[in-house]
Amino acid sequence: MMHVRRSATSSSCFCSACNSSPALSRRQFLCTTAATAVAAATVIGASGGPVRAQQPSGATASGPAILIKGGCVLTLDRTVGDFEQADVLIEGGKISAVRASISAPNAEVIDASRMIVMPGFVDTHRHMWQGILRNVLPDGSLDDYRNVVQRTFGAKYTPDDVYAGDLFSALGAIDSGVTCILDWSHIHNTPDHSDAAIKALAESGVRAVFAYGNPQNETGRYWEMKGHKFPEDIARLRKQYFSSEDQLLTLYMAAPSVAPELILEAFKAARDVGARITIHVGVGEFGRNALLEKLNAEKALRSDTTYIHCCTLNDTEWKLIRDTGGTISIAGYVETLMGHGNPPIQKAIDTGIRPSLSVDVETSVPNDFFQQMRTIFSLQKNEVWARRLAGDKNPPKFLTVRDVLELRPARMQTSSCCGPTGST
Ligand SMILES: [Zn+2]
Repeated sequence: MMHVRRSATSSSCFCSACNSSPALSRRQFLCTTAATAVAAATVIGASGGPVRAQQPSGATASGPAILIKGGCVLTLDRTVGDFEQADVLIEGGKISAVRASISAPNAEVIDASRMIVMPGFVDTHRHMWQGILRNVLPDGSLDDYRNVVQRTFGAKYTPDDVYAGDLFSALGAIDSGVTCILDWSHIHNTPDHSDAAIKALAESGVRAVFAYGNPQNETGRYWEMKGHKFPEDIARLRKQYFSSEDQLLTLYMAAPSVAPELILEAFKAARDVGARITIHVGVGEFGRNALLEKLNAEKALRSDTTYIHCCTLNDTEWKLIRDTGGTISIAGYVETLMGHGNPPIQKAIDTGIRPSLSVDVETSVPNDFFQQMRTIFSLQKNEVWARRLAGDKNPPKFLTVRDVLELRPARMQTSSCCGPTGST
C-alpha cells in the first residue's frame, strides 16, 4: 500500500493539457482497495488549469518503471474501457500500457490483486488551512462556521498554523484517494501566510491548485485590515512560485463573495496574471442577491471561472454560467448540514452542466470522498423518487454509480449524465 501511495503521487498527468501518451493521453490510474481509495494520479485543476510532472520542490515525476499488477482496472475513460483484471505500466512517470499480462522485468511491481485500480479523486474546493481544525464544528450552521472558524481561529492564525493546516489536509487527501485538490485558501492575513500555504502544498507531493484568497479578521470585513496584500499580491505569487506550468501546483484566484466592486477588483487581478477564478455563489439567503446578473452586467463572467455551491441561484444565473462556459463545484454534504440550500445536482444536470464535487470544510465534513459521492447519489435519487410519488409522468433519469464516479472537472472527460456542456 505504501508503495502504491508513494509511486502514485509522484506520477505525472495525462490530462488534455499535457498529454504525451497517444493511447492513454487522458488518464492515470492508481490503486484503491475495494472499499477505500488509497492513491491515484491523474488530473487537471478544477477546470483545466495546466498541471504537469515536476514539483516546485524539485522532485520529478519520472523514475523507475512501475507495474501495477492484477487489479480490477476501471479507467473511467470510455474510449479505453474497463478490465476485470489487467496490469498498468507506468514509465517515465506516465502510463504507457493497460492490458492483461504485461511483462516489464525492470519495473517495481505493485500487487493489486483483490484491489480496484482507478483514477484518483478530484476535490475542486477545500479550505485546506483548516486541516488542523478537523471536526471542531460538527453541529455548526453557516453562521457558526463564520464566527468560530473564520473570525476567531482565522483572525488569529499564524503562518505556521497555515503551513500545518495545509500540510495535514494535503496528506489526508492523498491518504483518502484524492490526488488533485483545489486549496480555496482565504487565510492570507500577510504575504507570509501565502508563502506558508504554498510551501506545505509543495512539500506534500499532492497535485494542487492554490487558489489565492482574502485574509480573515474578527469582523469579516477584510478590506478594513492593515498588513494584507490581497488581491494584488497574486502578481508576486505568479512570479515567485508559478512562473512555470511544468509543475504540480497551479495558481487560481479565490475571489471573495463581497460587494461587486471588490469582486471585480479580484477578477481583474487574476486575469492580469492569467489565473483562473473560483468563487462561492448561491449560498443560503445571502445567495439570492442576483450577484451573477450584476457581474454579467460588467461583462465579468467568462469560461475561466468555477462557481461553488450554486444552491440558491436564480434561473437566469444558471443560464449565465452555462452560456459563458463556467463550471461548478457542489459540496453536497456540507450544503445539507449548514443551510446553504439544496445541493443543485439535478438543476446542474437539467441545465447541461456536469458538476465536480468538493469537501469544502474539514471542520464539519469528513475528508472521505465517498461521503461526497454517496451524498450526491442519494439526493438525486431521492429527488427523482419524490417526483414520481408526486405523480410526475416524466421524471429525470436516475444517476448511476458510474455517473457519480465520473463527476469531475468538466474538461476531463465525457459523461452520459449531463447535456452538451457536460461533455466538453
Ligand atoms: Zn467553501
